[in-house]
Amino acid sequence: MEFDTIAAISTPMGEGAIAIVRLSGEEAVKISDKIFRSPSGKKLEEEKSHTIHYGHLIDPSTNDVVEEVMVSLMRGPKTFTREDVVEINCHGGIVSVNRVLQLVLRNGARLAEPGEFTKRAFLNGRIDLSQAEAVMDLIRAKTDRAMNVALGQMDGKLSRLIGDLRQALIETLAQVEVNIDYPEYDDVEEMTIPVLLEKCSWVQSEIQKLLQTSSQGKILREGLSTVILGRPNVGKSSLLNSLVQENKAIVTDIAGTTRDIIEEYVNVRGVPLRLVDTAGIRETEDIVERIGVERSRQVLKEADLILLVLNAAEELSVEDERLFETIQNMDFIVVVNKTDLPRKIDLEKVEQLANGRKVVTTSLLKEEGVIELEEAIAALFFEGQIEADDLTYVSNTRHISLLHQALETISDAIEGAEGGVPVDIVQIDVTRTWEILGEIVGDTVQESLINQLFSQFCLGK
Ligand code: GDP
Ligand code: ZN
Repeated sequence: MEFDTIAAISTPMGEGAIAIVRLSGEEAVKISDKIFRSPSGKKLEEEKSHTIHYGHLIDPSTNDVVEEVMVSLMRGPKTFTREDVVEINCHGGIVSVNRVLQLVLRNGARLAEPGEFTKRAFLNGRIDLSQAEAVMDLIRAKTDRAMNVALGQMDGKLSRLIGDLRQALIETLAQVEVNIDYPEYDDVEEMTIPVLLEKCSWVQSEIQKLLQTSSQGKILREGLSTVILGRPNVGKSSLLNSLVQENKAIVTDIAGTTRDIIEEYVNVRGVPLRLVDTAGIRETEDIVERIGVERSRQVLKEADLILLVLNAAEELSVEDERLFETIQNMDFIVVVNKTDLPRKIDLEKVEQLANGRKVVTTSLLKEEGVIELEEAIAALFFEGQIEADDLTYVSNTRHISLLHQALETISDAIEGAEGGVPVDIVQIDVTRTWEILGEIVGDTVQESLINQLFSQFCLGK
């Protein structure tokens, strides 16, 4: 495939120590040679691939020195895009890096569209679609664990598994085909159906396994949405603060403020929590009053976990009981706070209301009990589960929806085969499953979907 030469800043914007302007395409080296001067005067054109060179950038129209740089030269196909790639390492800072980018653009490169480098890697066959999407997740990954999932996927873990499933389906289809074409060799139906059922059942159970990981995968990617709930003055803000202090927020630029609610990302024992903070709300107002019944219901509905805070120094109030009722069908942990004060709360009653959920006592004032709370959160998340790194996780919404479709068609195939539907009809469902799984790795997707996916990338990736 032939493409023009694209360029973009490929390091994050802001005050980095160095910044990189990346060029990719047939003319990448030629364009660089127009503006790069090495002390020896040697052209990049004459240099070996995968080498790095010190020198200056010169604006050929004025002969002014623009920057002092290191230039990496990488010829295709052993590059990210499989094309010739030149990376210009210049000083960080928005002004200087933009000057370099402008210079490159004036001398023949075109500004890359968001995700275009990755798109080229995909179109040039270096990575498949699920790997490309993993690159996108990686850029957005908020915790180490989420990063590992993304890395695993980029590495092709999901692609390999999907590949195995498709291979099994294709082999089954081929075998069925042979049996239909040469009926004289065997009793076709009897021979074919058990083979077909065995393979399809295996594919079905693998898809089910993958789907089981999907809720965790989503959580790893977006954080476990956690709402701190409780009456005014019980210690909600204190709890938020101690969780944030002990587990330094991971991505500060993402922790944004919406009009009503503040979100903080913390990493509790590898579990990413997106703490929905009602601490910005005035102490005298409760969350329901402030943001309205509807909105607070919605916040609660979207929560993966509730931390219900109670005051140990007061008796349980009607309002406390009402809160228990509101969250009775959700995952929650009860935090009985202020245990340093004389106890008035009836702990037995609390246990009763908690109905099997964990109850943790804390004194946030004395910094006691927070570790137990963190352990309880982690235990809830990993309960009965293998450590995240050992599994292939599906966290991408598009993948999840395709897997659901594939599960449906493969189940139809199995049902049909068991119910005596003719083999050539069952074949249609098997073929369809093969196609749907192919969409996950990008084998059977249309151009428009590809464009849409890649436009979601950050510029420069
Ligand atoms: P919120 O209204 O639920 O957010 O409660 P805050 O976190 O603002 O706390 C209300 C008051 O209780 C503050 O004066 C805190 O210092 C105090 N407080 C919080 N935790 C404890 C605790 O464990 N023991 C005691 N004695 N006071 C606490
Ligand atoms: Zn508060």
